[in-house]
Formats: sequence, structure tokens, C-alpha cells
Amino acid sequence: MARIFCYIVHKAGVPDDSAFELAAAARKIDPSVSPTAILAGRGADLDVACNAVGAAYPEIWNIANDALAYPNAELIRKALVKVLPNNSIVLMAHDHFGIDLAPGLSIKLNSAFVSDVVDIAGAEGSALKVVRQEFGGQVSAHVHCDIASGAVVTIRPGAFKPLEAVPIRVAVVDQSNDIGTLTAGRRYLETVVAEAGDVDITKHNVLVSIGRGIQEKDNVAIAEELAEAMGAAVSCSRPVVDAKWMEKSRQVGSSGKTVKPKVYLACGISGAFQHLAGIKGSPFLIAINKNPKAPIFQVADIGIVDDILEFLPEMTNKARDLRHVA
Ligand SMILES: Cc1cc2nc3c(=O)[nH]c(=O)nc-3n(C[C@H](O)[C@H](O)[C@H](O)COP(=O)(O)OP(=O)(O)OC[C@H]3O[C@@H](n4cnc5c(N)ncnc54)[C@H](O)[C@@H]3O)c2cc1C
Repeated sequence: MARIFCYIVHKAGVPDDSAFELAAAARKIDPSVSPTAILAGRGADLDVACNAVGAAYPEIWNIANDALAYPNAELIRKALVKVLPNNSIVLMAHDHFGIDLAPGLSIKLNSAFVSDVVDIAGAEGSALKVVRQEFGGQVSAHVHCDIASGAVVTIRPGAFKPLEAVPIRVAVVDQSNDIGTLTAGRRYLETVVAEAGDVDITKHNVLVSIGRGIQEKDNVAIAEELAEAMGAAVSCSRPVVDAKWMEKSRQVGSSGKTVKPKVYLACGISGAFQHLAGIKGSPFLIAINKNPKAPIFQVADIGIVDDILEFLPEMTNKARDLRHVA
């Protein structure tokens, strides 16, 4: 079996949540192979990041270089091509950065490329068996990928339960000298931090999240009343923002905010992966949708098939009653 590497994105040494999810995905390819983490960036940041991911990776390769302080996929691709052994299997998150880095890396490595993998059935001979979703999650495609020359695989954030952290003795291998001088056509300008908005949905434990199923702006008040009764905040899917029913700062998803509530009520939300990508930390997910075949029910802990315009006001009344009893 070829070596498995997981490319870990971090911000100033704080690894992305996907670090432990990639470790879990790697073990589904072959439970007997320990994956190696690859970290790139400023030396001081890498020390912090090594401590954070050491519980999931017995070996970490560091590529320390000030030019890699900011995630420039062009530079990192060049660095990885120099250090990765032939036929490597490289996993990374299917996020903006991974989508930027992965396809070009697979071309430079002359290896296979599979994107947006939601499950792995294992490897048999030179075939890697993975599951992808098509048609907005309505169809699961089982893909057999030839990994004889290696593979670059992007893993959908949230699709794999993060590997339980177990303290292990970590070997840190410094690969910095092998990358030579790095130059790129792109250059880093600045980091623009998104505005928190009137309500910071990333800080709330309970979110009442509304999708296109809310149907019109005036109906947003129905969700606001429920949130108020539950001590929650209202978040939403992208179509709700596109329709200008709510501010962009309330949008959950790959092009919105990443939230980590304890309870997430998805109301009239179909469950597109771009939306689910913004829900982290495995919250208790309650989905209310009038279509019993909505993909959100595949990931929900509780699924309620009903019209939200009728169900939410009922739920608000119950929540208010419970508050009075308490
Ligand atoms: C590059 C890119 C980035 C994206 N980023 C994001 C993102 O950050 N966040 C995001 O959310 N989306 C994002 N999207 C859009 C995403 O693909 C989906 O289109 C979107 O999430 C769908 O939103 P929705 O579930 O509200 O709407 P729909 O998919 O239209 O689903 C509406 C649901 O409501 C149900 N419904 C309708 N009426 C009722 C009712 N009265 N009662 C109960 N249920 C009802 C329907 O059965 C349906 O399941 C992105 C897309 C792209 C291409």
C-alpha cells in the first residue's frame, strides 16, 4: 500500500477542523497504514500546529518557509511536488483551498484525482473505492479509482467523524530544505475578516436556520419568534440571503459562516453540501421539511415531515409553555 499523506490547513498554527476528519478518512483507506500529516508555513506556527494534530498523526512532515505563511496554493503545490514520494495518496479538505490546490497537484504528480469524497469503502489491489454525491445529494456514486500511480483526493468537510484524539509519540520530519526557492505568479495582499453582523451566529448554541422553504420575507418573523422562545438565533441558507430576506452575516455554508452549535434546526432547507459544509461539531440536527426525500433527512438526528409555516408556530407555542413551566 502506498503512503498516505494528509495536507493540513492551519491559521497561525491553529489547524482547521478537517485535520482529524482527514485522519479518519485515511484510516478508512487502509486501517493498517498510519497517515502522515503535512504542515506548511512559518516555523513558529508549525510548532503550534504539530502539538495540535499530533494526537492523530504519528508522523508529521514540516515544510517551514516564510513564503508559505499564507495559504498560496501555487507555492504549496510546488513545495509538495518536491517532497512527496512517487505513488503517494494525498488527502485534503474539499474547501476553497483544497479545490484550488488538488487538481493541479494531481497533474504535477501524474496521479489520479477524485474530488468531494463523502465516504471510503477501502482499497483493493490498485483500486480505491470511494463514494461521491451527485445531483445535490440525491444520488450516491460509487467510484473505483486506479491509484497505481497515486491519487489526490479531496474529502468533503463534515463527512467523516473526526478521529478520536489519542496522545501518541510523534516523529516530526523537517522537509524544509528539500523545497528549494519558491516563486509564484500570485502574491498575498491582505486578509479581510468578514464582519460579524448584528448577531454573531458562530457564537450561538442553538440555531433556528431557515431555507428557501420559508417562502417570503414576511415569514422570517415565524422563525424569529421560535428562536426568541428557545433562546436561539436565526441563521439561514444562501437563497434566503440572495432573496435579501436576511443579511449575509446570517448565512451558513461554504460561502457563508461556519457554525458549531449544539442544536441546529434546519427549517425548509434541502441539505445541499455547500450548506452542510458550514455546520461543524456534529450538533444535534433536527430537520423540518415537507419533502420526505429531502437530502437533509440523511444527516438529521430527527426528521419531521411537515410544512414549516404551520409547524414552527406550533413549536413556538410549546417552547413558550415549557419556559413558563420552568
Ligand atoms: C459555489 C457555491 C457556494 C454555495 N454556498 C452556499 C452556502 O454557503 N450556503 C448555502 O446554504 N448554500 C450555498 N450554496 C447553494 C447550495 O448549493 C443550495 O442551492 C442551497 O443551500 C439551497 O438552499 P435551500 O436548502 O434553502 O433551498 P432549496 O434547495 O430550494 O430547498 C428548499 C427546501 O425547502 C423545502 N420546503 C419548501 N417549502 C417548505 C415548507 N413550507 N415547509 C417545509 N419545507 C419546505 C423543500 O422541500 C426543499 O427541500 C452554494 C452554491 C454554490 C454553487
